[in-house]
Amino acid sequence: MPQETVRIMCPNLTCRKILAVPKSARGRTVRCRSCGTSIRVPPESGPKPAPAPSDSQS
Ligand SMILES: [Zn+2]
Repeated sequence: MPQETVRIMCPNLTCRKILAVPKSARGRTVRCRSCGTSIRVPPESGPKPAPAPSDSQS
């Protein structure tokens, strides 16, 4: 199973390198391997799924 990665772009305008970091790095700070800028990995990307209604009838 391939490891899921998060792609983020380096905020350094002179670098703008696309970095692929493991999902485990979410919410943490990684360092651009090209320019050394610290980049914060967003906790979650994309639209959030609607919360399931809790209609647990038993
Ligand atoms: Zn960079």
